[in-house]
Amino acid sequence: MKTSKIIIYDEPTVPEIQIKKLEKFLHDTFHADTEIRKNFFENREDEIFQEIATTRVFELKKPFSKHIPTKLEIQIEKENIDNSQNEEKILYDGFEFQKIISKFIPSNENDQEILNIIFTNKLTCTFDESDFRYHARALIGTNPAIISTTGIIEAPAKPKEYYLDLMVNFTKESAEKIKEKYKGEFLEYNDSRITEVVEGYLLQAVMYYETGEAFCEDRECRLYNAHWQKELLYTQSNKKLCKNHEESLRKIINHS
Ligand SMILES: [Zn+2]
Repeated sequence: MKTSKIIIYDEPTVPEIQIKKLEKFLHDTFHADTEIRKNFFENREDEIFQEIATTRVFELKKPFSKHIPTKLEIQIEKENIDNSQNEEKILYDGFEFQKIISKFIPSNENDQEILNIIFTNKLTCTFDESDFRYHARALIGTNPAIISTTGIIEAPAKPKEYYLDLMVNFTKESAEKIKEKYKGEFLEYNDSRITEVVEGYLLQAVMYYETGEAFCEDRECRLYNAHWQKELLYTQSNKKLCKNHEESLRKIINHS
C-alpha cells in the first residue's frame, strides 16, 4: 500500500459518522495505521475561514469564480453551524475547498504516504462541463479527500415519483406528507443508515487514492457510483465488493 497512514478528521455535528467505528473499519480493511483528529476547523486562525468563504458558489450555471466574502459569511464559517438543517444550503466548490484544506494540512503530513480524509457537513459541489452546471458531490477524491455528509444526503437523487409528487403539491404541509410517504427510500438528516453509507465512501476514498481508478460499474459493488439514493442504500447495506475490486484490495494490502 502506498499509504502508510490514514488520518481522519471528524465532523462532530454529524454523530452518525461514529468516527471510532470508522477508524476500526479502515484499520481492519487496509491494515494501515490510522489516527482520529478533531474537526479540521477547530482552533484555527481567521485566515482559513476567510479562505473557505471564498469558495462559495452562488450561480449553479456558471463555472467557479472566487467569491469576496462578507464579514458575516466568514463568521458563519467560524461557527461551523450545521448547515444541513437550513432549507437554503450553502454551496462550496469542492475542488477549491480541497485546495484550501490542502494548504492547512501540517507540512510533515502533506506527503504521499499519509492520506488525510476530512469529514464535513458543508455541501461540496463540482462544476460539470458536460451539462455546464454544478452538481452536489459526496466525495472529492485524492489527497486530502473530502467526504461531505450533506452531499451524501443531497447528491444521489431521490425517487422520481417523489419529485413529481412535490411538483403538484407545493405547500409546506403537503411536502411533509410526501416525505412521509417515501420515508425509508432515501437518506434523511440524522438517519442511522448514514453510518454504513459513510463507510462505503471511505472505502471509495482510499481505493481511489491507491489505484487512481474512480468508481465501479458494477451495481453490486461497494465502489459503485450511485446516482440514486436507492442504489446507494442497496450497495452500502450489501457491503460487498465485486470480484475485480476484491482482487485489487488484496493486492493493495499485500503490497505493503
Ligand atoms: Zn467493483
